[in-house]
Amino acid sequence: MSVFDHPEFDQHESIHYVYDASTGLRAIICIHSTALGPAAGGCRHWQYASDETALTDVLRLARGMTYKNAIAGLRFGGGKSVILANDATPKTAELMHAFGRAVESLGGRYVTAEDVGCSVDDMRNVNQETRYVSGLPKSGDNAGGDPSPMTALGVFLGIQAAVKARLGSDSLQGINVAVQGVGKVGLNLCRLLNDAGARLTVADVNDDHLQQARDELPVTEVAPTEILFSDVDVLAPCALGSILTAQSIPNIKAKIIAGAANNQLLTEEDGARLAEREILYAPDYVINAGGIVNVAAEYFGNSSEEQVRTEVGRIPERLDAIFAEAKASKEPTNRIADRMARRIVADGAKESTEQTPHG
Ligand code: NAD
Repeated sequence: MSVFDHPEFDQHESIHYVYDASTGLRAIICIHSTALGPAAGGCRHWQYASDETALTDVLRLARGMTYKNAIAGLRFGGGKSVILANDATPKTAELMHAFGRAVESLGGRYVTAEDVGCSVDDMRNVNQETRYVSGLPKSGDNAGGDPSPMTALGVFLGIQAAVKARLGSDSLQGINVAVQGVGKVGLNLCRLLNDAGARLTVADVNDDHLQQARDELPVTEVAPTEILFSDVDVLAPCALGSILTAQSIPNIKAKIIAGAANNQLLTEEDGARLAEREILYAPDYVINAGGIVNVAAEYFGNSSEEQVRTEVGRIPERLDAIFAEAKASKEPTNRIADRMARRIVADGAKESTEQTPHG
């Protein structure tokens, strides 16, 4: 099948397949839009079931980044990359150097950072070959480093906004939250929720991550197959995407879905399915923008961590606006957010065309 006929193809500007013979690197770098600036989005290192699955993931993730960056008011377009992991090619410094050379070859049209399966150390290796990378070790009081604490902060503030909108409560005291995935974002989120008096139910497929949560916090554990269907107030997906589907939605008991995972809805219609069940869905790319706000502050420079916190603090007001419009129009929240994002991108594209000199 041609990529142009792929169901997830949505006028993506370019898709780059990368192979490096010396390391065995196989990667896809996908640029969805540069209308608002360089296409920015993290690099995912993941063992996919097939190359086709990796392509589907990167197409969806890249478009999500366009929308996320637009709504967060950043001077970034949207892109994403995936490294196709396999047992024969471990994630070595050399592999990340090769990936860095691929990023460099795009001349700044794509800016990378860490995503699932990648760390600050990996980005340091990427940085040996290219300056088009963020999420590097933090220096002094400047913004930077691992973006996941800021992502978790934004999700936490977003959960507060959703609880207020759906349950009418100003406090998270005694609110039950199920967190799917206690990795970098999920664990930070659990800490914030615990401090605010919420009760935590967690699941993870990685025993080390689960152990860390168990050692540190009062958590109730359930099996990964059960977490989505826990009898809780809030479900916070912080693992992988495509979990909210025609099959899973009828069995969800939570009244709110608000978490960090990208591409939580399998299809756009799943947003309508949630709305029909009166489950308030915080659009993933709106609530999880804290990390990219941090990445942007580091990349463009001259911002302190305090300024990033202030900017992340604006996530709830964006969600409030979406929730209010959804209530008034009876439209699903994801559709409202998509429309807002597309309008911002179209306005940005128009502005840049108007600024282009005609010869
Ligand atoms: P991570 O890899 O550190 O954590 C993900 C966790 O989910 C891991 O512990 C993993 O074992 C677990 N997991 C995977 N499949 C699972 C399943 N079926 N059931 C339960 N647990 C499962 O990744 P992260 O950086 O914490 O990111 C989490 C999600 O948030 C991802 O979807 C990512 O794209 C998204 N996100 C992350 C950031 C960030 O700043 N890190 C920013 C925006 C969005």
